[in-house]
Amino acid sequence: MNKPAELKLDTVPVWIHGKALAPAGRRGEVFNPATGQVSKQVVFADAGIVDAAVKAAASAFPEWRDTPPLRRARVLQKFLQLLQRDQKMLARLVTEEHGKTLPDAVGSVQRGIEVVEFACGIPHLLKGEFAENAGTQVDTHTIRQPVGVCAGITPFNFPVMVPLWMFPMALACGNTFILKPSEKVPSASVRMAELLQEAGLPDGVLNVVHGDKAAVDAILNHPGIQAVSFVGSTPIAKYIYETCAKAGKRVQALGGAKNHAVVLPDADLEFAADALIGAAYGSAGERCMAISAVVAVGAAGDPLVKLLEKKARAIKIGPGDQDGVEMGPLVTGAHRDKVASYVEAGMKEGAKLVLDGRKAPVKDGFFLGTTLFDHVKPEMSIYRDEIFGPVLVVLRAGTIEEAIALVNRNPYANGTAIFTESGGVARRFAAEIQVGMVGINVPIPVPVAYFSFGGWKNSLFGDLHVHGTESVKFYTRTKVVTTRWPHQDTPAPGFHMPTLG
Ligand code: NAD
Repeated sequence: MNKPAELKLDTVPVWIHGKALAPAGRRGEVFNPATGQVSKQVVFADAGIVDAAVKAAASAFPEWRDTPPLRRARVLQKFLQLLQRDQKMLARLVTEEHGKTLPDAVGSVQRGIEVVEFACGIPHLLKGEFAENAGTQVDTHTIRQPVGVCAGITPFNFPVMVPLWMFPMALACGNTFILKPSEKVPSASVRMAELLQEAGLPDGVLNVVHGDKAAVDAILNHPGIQAVSFVGSTPIAKYIYETCAKAGKRVQALGGAKNHAVVLPDADLEFAADALIGAAYGSAGERCMAISAVVAVGAAGDPLVKLLEKKARAIKIGPGDQDGVEMGPLVTGAHRDKVASYVEAGMKEGAKLVLDGRKAPVKDGFFLGTTLFDHVKPEMSIYRDEIFGPVLVVLRAGTIEEAIALVNRNPYANGTAIFTESGGVARRFAAEIQVGMVGINVPIPVPVAYFSFGGWKNSLFGDLHVHGTESVKFYTRTKVVTTRWPHQDTPAPGFHMPTLG
């Protein structure tokens, strides 16, 4: 038998101290989900490569820390221009490796760019507090200092946006950074590192390594890394949080989600259904803020399910780079199969299958159609688990109180939304719901970059959310300085507990 000709594949390198490197060692495969074919290889970092990245970041730290924030901001301003120049190119990389449609990818890159816009205002954000004469002839002020070498570990579903939630703010605050993007979508991170070099970032300030658990564990166990930001699934987020906390590292670990939309009978159901269709099936349901559970209250149920079915059936599925396509493939064959297995599970558990997405209208690639379940009960796995695919489940509730209680019992608490015409009910919902981000007639309430993003409960381990002012707190340490300049009439320091007053 003839041996098939060896395919020459591009290799996605690691990026250390301003250089693209592809040392010998383990490699991963990168797929194009629209064709189902391997399109590239990616260098998998071992502990030695991670150590080289930490050394590069540590050696670049003192100079970058001491660079005035205004100058750091200028590098980010230039980076912002380059991101805007190359937005389409970055979006194309996202579509190629993740599968989402090009307009969706462009939008996600835009949301990342907005964090860089926010980071450009860093001189103002780093200002401390000052109290004159806090004690007799004593002044007190605070300063915010960078924490040192930080690392970011990111998921497959937003190859540009989620890394941009992290490193622009970390760098703006004066830290150096090691990014470990998802090994399924590695190219965009290296491209962004190149753009930052073009923007004038000194070598070593941002480094990119790739890989799976081995690379992540090398980051978690490295004593030279002071802080870790993580976004991904809940079990890994918990593992990252616990491992970092044990090692004395600062950590924020954002996890998975099951986001509910509560729809009241007084809502504009046509508007709600349109919103829910985009929120449930957009990006093939692979968004941490996707609506994956609808709670239909009272009489809203039957007409809403009819509308959802009609609209879900009409979604145009195909390769993400084709005009008019609304939903692309899932990220890998294994993930597609796992999502598809929930259709069988839901039927077995007794939910009503309204629309079966297992027969995708596209032959090649990792495609699935849209699935809709009605009369789903809280104990069913299709409700309990984060499916992370184009599967929407509808539960029925008799009253708003029942709906709120149901949402609050769920262990995930990333985002939620309510659809109603009643301001009073919406206000009560916002107050009582135990979820980090709430939308009122807004299905995906992702905050703008100058607010902070993060969930509650199993959707976030740690205290501080990403971007906005909470990220300044995460990437800096506060120091309080108390000052006295003694002169003739300064009272002599006492022997007992100083009270200053
Ligand atoms: P994942 O948890 O499998 O992977 C995330 C990162 O962790 C990747 O870089 C991966 O290489 C690494 N990783 C995977 N397994 C590991 C292990 N055993 N030990 C150490 N590291 C490991 O997540 P994913 O499948 O890439 O992304 C989808 C998940 O991310 C979903 O659960 C989604 O809800 C979540 N997500 C959450 C948010 C949020 O803001 N809360 C945003 C985006 C995605």
